[in-house]
Amino acid sequence: KLIANKIAAGEVVDRPVSVVKELVENAIDANASKIIVEIKEGGKTYIRITDDGIGIYESDVEIAFERHATSKIKDADDLNSILSLGFRGEALASIASVSQVELITKTEDSKTGTYLEIHGGEIIERKEIGCPKGTTFVIKNLFYNMPARYQFMKSNAVETGYISDLISKFALAYSNISFRFINNGTIVFTTSGSSSVINNIVSIYGKEIAKNMMYVSNRVKDISIEAYISKPTIARGNKKQQVFFVNGRYVKNKIISDAIEEAYKTLVKVNRFPICFIYLNIPPNRLDVNIHPTKTEIRFDDELYIKDFVVNTLRSKLLEENL
Ligand code: ADP
Ligand code: MG
Repeated sequence: KLIANKIAAGEVVDRPVSVVKELVENAIDANASKIIVEIKEGGKTYIRITDDGIGIYESDVEIAFERHATSKIKDADDLNSILSLGFRGEALASIASVSQVELITKTEDSKTGTYLEIHGGEIIERKEIGCPKGTTFVIKNLFYNMPARYQFMKSNAVETGYISDLISKFALAYSNISFRFINNGTIVFTTSGSSSVINNIVSIYGKEIAKNMMYVSNRVKDISIEAYISKPTIARGNKKQQVFFVNGRYVKNKIISDAIEEAYKTLVKVNRFPICFIYLNIPPNRLDVNIHPTKTEIRFDDELYIKDFVVNTLRSKLLEENL
């Protein structure tokens, strides 16, 4: 079983940022209002994620680390309308098999919390512990027992960049949650969790970028969009600064990036790659989130329709701005 988890880990966890992604998604699924992510050395030696969510019952703590253990799907129908970010029950089993994990967790109605330590999938220690409601995971020495995988990690700076990027995207996707990112003991940014997207853009990217963003929204029947796009007068961004969320989830999607390019191409000569943050909402049955295990790739059932919708929305704003 440990071997199976280690093999599965290769799919779910390939570098520190994928650990962070899984744990932050779990915190979001646990209804956290505050999530703190702390890393050291690019996350290779230390990742700590603290949330103030619902916590895990003492009787469920070990189960959570079992493969295919998920508390999030009640029946097969749920698969078609998944609202939680996790649903496969693979992340904790995978992460625990290739690192040294400490878990501290407490639910609202428990008097004491639980501490559990697992190294390479083996339980090392379990005890009662006093702690506030919520969950903290500490992941130490990722891939310490998988030298082949260890070697594939990039420099600390590069791995840190991936993580910083990811937390930024989470903070933008969930502006109702406060995110704090700490790197090697220094706070990189904190979002307030009660503020608008534009305030989060200030917290994360700075005032300069934020003050040059335009906002446009649109809705046609059950599909809606909110977009923050850089003013056409602002010289180029690049595709990396284009961030998309579909139904609140960060996604990579060529249809949306093509749509931006098309909208700008004809109207704005200097800048085909604006900085933009696009929030699209679409009924879940009109997209397929299940095509990739890490779920950043999605596919729309009617790609042309969505593309036109995005192009038209952005164009209307650009035209208005040019008048
Ligand atoms: P999944 O998210 O697909 O359900 P995971 O392996 O990521 O699977 O997590 C397993 C289970 O552990 C979750 O279904 C949830 O019940 C519990 N869990 C994990 N992280 C947290 C957390 N931060 N707060 C509360 N429960 C959690
Ligand atoms: Mg999960």
